[in-house]
Amino acid sequence: MTVPFVRTAPSPTGYLHIGNARSILFNWLFARRHGGRFLLRYDDTDKARSKPEFAEAIAEDLAWLGVVPDASIKQSERLGLYDEAAATLRAAGRLYPCYESADELDRRRKRQLARGLPPVYDRAALKLTAADRAALEASGRRPHWRFQLDWEEIGWADLVRGPSHVDCASLSDPVVVREDGTYPYTLPSVVDDVDMGITHVIRGEDHVTNTAVQIQIIQALGAAVPVFGHHNLLTTASGEGLSKRLGHLSLRGLRESGVEALAVAALSVLVGSSDAVRPVSSLDELAGLVDLAHVSRAPAKFDEHELEALSARTLHHFEFAAVAERLRALGIPASEPFWLAVRGNLDRLSGAGVWWRVVEGPIEPLVVDKAFAAAAAALLPPEPFDQTSWKSWTQAVAAATGTKGKALFMPLRQALTGRDHGPELAALLPLIGREKALKRLAGETA
Ligand code: GLU
Repeated sequence: MTVPFVRTAPSPTGYLHIGNARSILFNWLFARRHGGRFLLRYDDTDKARSKPEFAEAIAEDLAWLGVVPDASIKQSERLGLYDEAAATLRAAGRLYPCYESADELDRRRKRQLARGLPPVYDRAALKLTAADRAALEASGRRPHWRFQLDWEEIGWADLVRGPSHVDCASLSDPVVVREDGTYPYTLPSVVDDVDMGITHVIRGEDHVTNTAVQIQIIQALGAAVPVFGHHNLLTTASGEGLSKRLGHLSLRGLRESGVEALAVAALSVLVGSSDAVRPVSSLDELAGLVDLAHVSRAPAKFDEHELEALSARTLHHFEFAAVAERLRALGIPASEPFWLAVRGNLDRLSGAGVWWRVVEGPIEPLVVDKAFAAAAAALLPPEPFDQTSWKSWTQAVAAATGTKGKALFMPLRQALTGRDHGPELAALLPLIGREKALKRLAGETA
């Protein structure tokens, strides 16, 4: 395979959501897997809706996911290239001026639908004579320009869907230059893909029809057609499409809720594929798992509960080195033994703070049976403690007090941690240490 150069092309008109993450990661992981590169392109030609703060948020949210672009461009800075391409297509006779207003087009579509015809542009403007056009322009009308499609079937070998075909005879000639000289998505996207040397265009299946149109434009510009892949789209658990308005499923909202970025990444690409959803310890591991040929055709449902569960399982697998810095940022100057002791009990990384306080103190112990606690304290072995200290101590306490099971372990847990549940005491006891353990068994705050 040629070394891939892929791209993702969000419009900075809102915050990225988990469905965008799916598309972005399919590209980025594909580049990772095949030793390629990844371009971030801001599709910001819509001046009214594009905002610099959304562009910044996109970069930040990608960084949170762990996605680092190899290059980044903005369409608003490349308008000259689109003008050149439009001139080339005009010179080749592939663009024609049209003068219908949006209202006229709308009425025409409604008439077609009423007569049971597909609402396809009828190419009326192709029949205008030079005199007709001059008259329209004299009356103040300005043209928009359509690309004249060849009425043929366009086919490609889709990375996800396999052999794919679209009959261009059933499509309207797309408007590629608006009346005010601005460009809708279609032409700039092609020009940038060609200019940047994009080898693989991987995007949602809502773009299948665009692909047929864009292949024709690429060919009309005399450029090489990249490989295309169209993945299924994510819906909410109830089957609704995701939109930029679904705030809590935005990457931002998910980050604020404390879920693990790696879990968001893994779920966003493994759901709706024949691969099982499972925790991974790095994006590289995920790159090795994800295969576009395994992505299913049906829409994929995104379930927040599944994300919560995967986020917890992801945490439980993290090595200390993967979280040490984040723990410090949370004010938890933890050690590796601490992390290994508590990770299996966490739903959120921030939950480690509770166990840090248990280990460091001070906490209020819970001592109900003072005599039992005193007997246990008298049997606590000398330091140094290790993972076996807990077992030998509790065996001695069991023998001395005649207790076992919950009656033995619960009062010790309550005294040492002030709680009924938590990480294995065999791991916590060496972290708490003898001095604090004795104080807590005596009912003192320590
Ligand atoms: N800005 C387009 C979108 O967000 C890009 C589509 C593409 O990847 O070509 O749908």
